[in-house]
Amino acid sequence: MTNSVSGRQGMRVAVIGGGIIGCLTALYLARLGARPVILERGRTGHESSWAGAGILCPIHPWLYPDSFTRLVDFSLNLYPDLSDELQRLTGMSIEWLQSGLLIPLFADDAVHHRQHALQWSQKFDWRVEELDADGLQRHEPVLSHHATGGLLWPEVAQARNPRLLKAVKQALELAAVEVLEQVEVTNLALNAQGHVAGVCLADGRQLDADAALLAAGSWSGELANVMGVSLPVEPVKGQIALIRTDPGTVRHIIKHDDVYFVPRQDGRVLIGASMERVGFIEGNTEDIIHTLMQATARIAPALAEAEVEHQWMGFRPGTPDGLPYLGPVAGRPGLWVATGHYRNGVLLAPGTAELMSRWMMGESPSLDMHDFRVDRKLPNDPMIGLPE
Ligand SMILES: Cc1cc2nc3c(=O)[nH]c(=O)nc-3n(C[C@H](O)[C@H](O)[C@H](O)COP(=O)(O)OP(=O)(O)OC[C@H]3O[C@@H](n4cnc5c(N)ncnc54)[C@H](O)[C@@H]3O)c2cc1C
Repeated sequence: MTNSVSGRQGMRVAVIGGGIIGCLTALYLARLGARPVILERGRTGHESSWAGAGILCPIHPWLYPDSFTRLVDFSLNLYPDLSDELQRLTGMSIEWLQSGLLIPLFADDAVHHRQHALQWSQKFDWRVEELDADGLQRHEPVLSHHATGGLLWPEVAQARNPRLLKAVKQALELAAVEVLEQVEVTNLALNAQGHVAGVCLADGRQLDADAALLAAGSWSGELANVMGVSLPVEPVKGQIALIRTDPGTVRHIIKHDDVYFVPRQDGRVLIGASMERVGFIEGNTEDIIHTLMQATARIAPALAEAEVEHQWMGFRPGTPDGLPYLGPVAGRPGLWVATGHYRNGVLLAPGTAELMSRWMMGESPSLDMHDFRVDRKLPNDPMIGLPE
């Protein structure tokens, strides 16, 4: 790299999309001396980033390439400081909590994860404990007695998405980052040399910028298409049900192939989440909530008796190989992409923001980003939806 961070001071960056990825990257860009402006067609932090469960660990990370785990580790290491910093700056807690992750094992599981999970944990130095049936019950009495044992990662944490977004939004305000809501980007504006000169807006105006960052979540693929860039990002709808229990009823994040539970400190438990490739069809459906509660009845029967207090949904930005797109776009100087975070956008947000902001400001990334490049070769057997 020829440029350095100081060489790009004052760079105006149009950040397209005000989800956790766009907002946090804009905040970090501002700290490095850039002048980001967030362009959000609705309200910041009200799409996938708001809807997510806030589990700070990928679902079955052993299914992904090693480069993904390195990105995950990089990002998760930044979380405790981010949490402290947001608390200090804004007075808000994002409820970063190491509640641990438990995967119960059943004899008739469709996929047997134990071996791969243990190998992966050892390779990447993730502390894991193997539990027999009694040990499992001691740790998590709410689980079905049919479970034969389980795996416990005691250091896995969670965060509460809406609080994270609220705190980041306030940090953006304190950093005087411009945030334009109800402003839809429709295309790039290019100069005579084909370099990004700004973005075109739905109301016909143009916003001038030296660079643009496409961080429009599930909508990034459509917008990239208009820009003449192939970016196969598609929405994977996820529905979640919320039940209320006595605090401590569920102690850990519990994950099984068909369902997961995320206990909040106030006793509420998130039951998630469907994986639906139905395009952008909004709203919850009875059949899906019923399916989630049926899976709950099998894993933790007592929870299935609780009344569903609330339900919601969101669109995960899915990619064919399950990996995000991070980096510059070849042939479109000035255009950068940070999207396609699929089921992992909240856990990958600090890492994405740190890597992308420094990269855009001229520093070489501290991780090998080859597997996340925009023009990577895609597999013939798409991973979206895995594991079935
Ligand atoms: C049910 C569910 C559970 C999940 N659980 C977890 C979890 O436990 N852990 C985890 O890490 N991740 C989880 N995720 C995934 C995570 O929420 C996403 O990967 C992450 O939120 C993606 O963030 P984003 O900023 O890219 O997208 P979004 O939050 O969707 O933000 C994109 C923004 O771009 C805006 N936009 C789109 N087009 C335009 C345009 N043309 N102009 C201007 N603005 C535009 C949208 O309005 C939106 O606000 C979950 C997701 C769902 C739905």
